[in-house]
Amino acid sequence: MKAPSFAYAKPRSLQEAFELIGRPGAKILAGGQSLIPSLNMRLSAPELLVDITGLPGLSEIVVDKGTVRIGALVTHARIERNADVRKHVPMLAAAAKHVAHPAIRNRGTLGGSLALADPAAEYPACAVALQATLVISGVKGERRVKAEGFFKGLFETDLKDGEILVAAEFPTGGKSVFLELTRRHGDYAIVGLAAHQDRFVFFNIGSAPVLVKGSSLTELKTSLARIEPPADLYHTSKTKLHLAGVLLERAWTSL
Ligand SMILES: Cc1cc2nc3c(=O)[nH]c(=O)nc-3n(C[C@H](O)[C@H](O)[C@H](O)COP(=O)(O)OP(=O)(O)OC[C@H]3O[C@@H](n4cnc5c(N)ncnc54)[C@H](O)[C@@H]3O)c2cc1C
Repeated sequence: MKAPSFAYAKPRSLQEAFELIGRPGAKILAGGQSLIPSLNMRLSAPELLVDITGLPGLSEIVVDKGTVRIGALVTHARIERNADVRKHVPMLAAAAKHVAHPAIRNRGTLGGSLALADPAAEYPACAVALQATLVISGVKGERRVKAEGFFKGLFETDLKDGEILVAAEFPTGGKSVFLELTRRHGDYAIVGLAAHQDRFVFFNIGSAPVLVKGSSLTELKTSLARIEPPADLYHTSKTKLHLAGVLLERAWTSL
């Protein structure tokens, strides 16, 4: 199917972007790797697509005082290959390899993935595990939100109408493990786990990233057992819970 017709604008400054996304029926377009398929499937019909890929200052990766700040427009492919990300936030580089296929990784962006908040996506779980800070800009100025409070539910975040996610800041250091199970490499995960130090964050077992708490493997297993993952077309809730337990043991052993 083809997308319904829409108007298109490509602002060159944040101020211009805020004016455009404030219009009724406007929607932000970044890499288009989730939005365009959803338009083609007629799941949404925005009147105006505001292409933010021409905005200055949203494509940088900067290491500064114990954090790596990654602009919202940085693509999955850059995250996968960038030397600073690989050195300072290796979990994110490891996760990027699992996001879809190279063609999608070349266009899809960190900001698009975090803003979409797909429960099966890799980065939201990494952001919660790493205690990232999300930097959000709007007409009223900039605000910063901890990842743990940003993901509210199924495809739901703390972003308000008229706001743009401009960057995410990831603290450096500490040991991480990133694991996911898929039927084929590049598929969305059946179940995944982003573990950093004592933070074990699962994805695709709930409507948002699920932080499981516990100070021993037994405690973690007990907490995990209380979760009822939604079944999908191929896997029952019980299977997903079992697979999550397998990932938990693997991560615990390697941390
Ligand atoms: C076949 C296929 C397989 C895929 N597999 C995976 C996978 O395994 N794992 C995974 O995580 N993803 C997967 N994806 C999705 C992909 O990672 C997308 O790139 C990503 O979800 C969205 O990023 P984008 O830049 O393309 O955003 P877009 O598609 O342009 O936008 C997505 C949504 O976010 C909003 N948005 C975008 N940027 C911002 C911003 N800076 N501020 C505020 N709102 C914004 C848009 O308005 C839209 O609602 C897959 C996609 C396809 C087509």
